[in-house]
Order: sequence, then structure tokens, then C-alpha cells
Amino acid sequence: MTILPAFVTQFMASFREKGYQIYLVGGSARDMLLDKEIKNWDFTTNAHPEAMMELFPDAFYNNQFGTVGIPLKQGDDTYVFEVTTFRKESAYTDQRHPDTVEWAQTVEEDLARRDFTINAIAYDGEKLIDPFQGQEDLKQGIIRAVGDPDKRFTEDALRLMRGVRFTSQLGFFIEDATRNSITRNAELITRVSGERIRDELLKIVASNHPAEGILFLRNTQLLHYILPEVDRCFKVPQKSPKRHHIYDVGTHLTMALKHCPSSDVITRFATLLHDIGKADTFHKDPTTQLITFYNHEVVSAILTEKIAKRLRLSNEQTEKLVTLVKYHQFTVSEIQTDKAVRRFIRQIGQENIQSMLDLRTGDRIGSGATPTSWRFELFKKRLEEVQHEPFKVTDLKVDGRDVMEILAIKPGRQVGETLDDIFSLVEDKKLENDRDALLTYLRGKVK
Ligand code: ATP
Ligand code: MG
Repeated sequence: MTILPAFVTQFMASFREKGYQIYLVGGSARDMLLDKEIKNWDFTTNAHPEAMMELFPDAFYNNQFGTVGIPLKQGDDTYVFEVTTFRKESAYTDQRHPDTVEWAQTVEEDLARRDFTINAIAYDGEKLIDPFQGQEDLKQGIIRAVGDPDKRFTEDALRLMRGVRFTSQLGFFIEDATRNSITRNAELITRVSGERIRDELLKIVASNHPAEGILFLRNTQLLHYILPEVDRCFKVPQKSPKRHHIYDVGTHLTMALKHCPSSDVITRFATLLHDIGKADTFHKDPTTQLITFYNHEVVSAILTEKIAKRLRLSNEQTEKLVTLVKYHQFTVSEIQTDKAVRRFIRQIGQENIQSMLDLRTGDRIGSGATPTSWRFELFKKRLEEVQHEPFKVTDLKVDGRDVMEILAIKPGRQVGETLDDIFSLVEDKKLENDRDALLTYLRGKVK
């Protein structure tokens, strides 16, 4: 059991001194019992928000869940403690927010409205309150709904995805009755907002067991509602004579995600989505039996953009996601010119190179191939090399001022065009990026 730091026990003591109860709960109590480092601090108390605001003047209270955020400075770090007042379950008619918040009197009542047994444990600093045997489920690695699962998932359909999210973060199994209930109620997820679905989905993709999470989503039908573009890929075969693929498209995407070495969530998500256009571009030649997917990356990119909109990803996330999917078919042939390699880098952006390579590594392993090849390694080296050479016009050893001075011209289009011409010659290795050489070349242009 993780030992609570002194600033946490002191914080809890300050509630008790005023006659209030306070408990560590939720993810914090769970991580404490799992011997993990506690990153988010969740507490529950019988103090009402107004009372907490008086106790802690810089606390903020701005949502309908009765949660008070209390910032606490500890050395150079500032922690925000999330403290919720004991409350009862109330109806969520919009599947988003409880209609009303009704305070509860006891911690047991508060634990009863929580989603899973492993999240319904409270710790007062000395003893654990565990009315639903959450510790036993933690030990066994089981996700089990608190109370009647059908009722709990109907109250708040986001819990359907939270259940799967906890399995993929913790490597746990979902208990049978809970899993059957998720499957039975899967369609309710359509009533949940894109933002809430996004948060849980991205947590699954970023977790330690993302592939298992996607397969859980599939087996419970949730994938059909939240990512139908991926779900349908499990029905698209791609085993064909003389091709390296050993899996259907859906399994391939899941395996690619599993083996993608990146910890960046958007890179991982792009790896999951990179071939979704194959469902629309599937073609099997009747005589040769050869399966092809012409231009599937273009269709994949269009579908990816739609998914990003639906899940309300930020513009920055969307741009990166779509770029990675659109250009994932890049070739790594040793006979490509430096110019072609540079064009590729400019297309995807220098900041996306590592992500693109990580997607490819996942793609390779997820197709049953080896993680790398001599060609792929050579290509990585060349990506490095061409970036060391002049990469953009601004890397040239002459600039606009030189051009204007030597050609005796005023600022205008001709300056840029001249620099572009010089850059093109340098790129083609017809000129060296050496200041004297470039100045001599420029002077030669003066007639
Ligand atoms: P993490 O912080 O890693 O996302 P967590 O379990 O702490 O995991 P939070 O969203 O921070 O999740 O919620 C804190 C606690 O509040 C949960 O452990 C659970 O007890 C309760 N909770 C959160 N969302 C719900 C919900 N939709 N239905 C019921 N209980 C919930
Ligand atoms: Mg939490």
C-alpha cells in the first residue's frame, strides 16, 4: 500500500479539526492499494462546497457535480485536490449530467453511487471502507459494477466505456454479468456526447493494453457504435497470393496499434485508423484471386477526418492524425532521390517524422513482418541526412539582401524566385551551399 505523503495527511487533518469527515476515494484509493504512484488526488467529504470555500479561500467550485478543486502548493509543484461532497445517485436523463445533485449523509451512500467496486473504496487515513468488496476484485483483477449493472449503465451510459477503459489501463477482466450487461446496453452509448466518448477512447488507446481494449469494445458491440469504420474492417480479408498479410484488416489494425512503439496518443490512434479505407477499396481479381486496395490511404484520410470531427478532436490533433493516415504508404526504396525524401518530409512536417516511422513499425509487425528491414533502416538514416543538408530556402548561405544587392533589384517577387532557383540547384547538387560559391553564381547572373 502506497504511503500517503505528509501534505496529504495534513490536508485531511484540517477537515477533521473542523469536525468533518474526509476520505481518499476513486482512482487515488485504487492506486494506493495497487502500490502505484498517486497522480490525481480524489477525496470525498460531508463538508458542503460552501463550507470548503470558507476553509480554503483559493478553492474553486464551478460545476454541477459538487466537486471543489483545492490547489495546494508543495515545493515547486501545485496539486489540485478534487473534493466531492457525499452525494446520492440521481437520474441522468441526458446521459451526461445528473439532473440534480442530492447530498448524502454517509460515505457508504456515496460509495454506492460509484461505478465499479474497485472505484468504491474509501480510506480515512487509518481504515478502509469497502462495502462492495472492491479490494477482493482489485486482487483478482476484476471490473464489476456496483449494484445492478443494467441499472447502473442506464443511469449513465459513459460507464460502458469506463468499464472497458479500466480493463485496458489495469489489464483486468470484466466480470461476466457486468460484461453481458455492457453488451446488452451497448447502444446507449449513442446518447453520450462526442467529447465524453473521446476522453475514454483516447485513454484506452494511450493505455498499456490498447489492443485488448479495442477487442473488448468490439466484443461488446461498443465499437460498432463509436467507431463503425474500424468495426467493419474485421470483415475485410486481405490474405492473398504473394502478399505478406496474415490477418483481416480489423485484426491487422488492432495488432498494429498493439505494436506501435509510440507513447503519443494521436500517433497510436492514427495507427489504429490507417487502413480503414480498405473496406471501401477492396477488390479481388476473379482470375488471379489477388486482393488490392487502390488509393485506400486517400479514403482512410477522408474517413479519419470525419471521425476527428465526430469526436471533437482539436484542430491540431486532427491535422496530425489525418496527415499520418494520408501519407502512411510512403516508400522506403533505396533508389529514391534526396529530393524525393525531402519532399516527403515537407509533406508530413518535420515534427511528424518520428510518429510516421512509429506508425510504420506498428504496421509492419501488425502484418506479421519483422519490426524492421535494411531498407527501412537505410531510409531512417537518409531522413536524418537530408535534414542536415540545406532543407529550406532559409538554410542557404545567401539571403534576400545578397540577391538585391548583387542583382541591384528592389524587394519583390524576383528576389524569392532567385532564391528558389538557387535552392533547387543546391538540392540537385549542381551548386554547393557555400557562401563564396553562391555569391559567385549570383554575380554571374549580372550581365
Ligand atoms: P482516473 O482519474 O485515472 O481517470 P478515476 O477512477 O479516478 O480514474 P475519475 O473520473 O477521476 O476516475 O472519477 C473519480 C471517481 O468518481 C471514480 O473512481 C468513481 O468512483 C467515480 N466516478 C467517476 N465517474 C463516474 C461515473 N460516470 N459514474 C459513477 N461513478 C463515477
Ligand atoms: Mg481520478
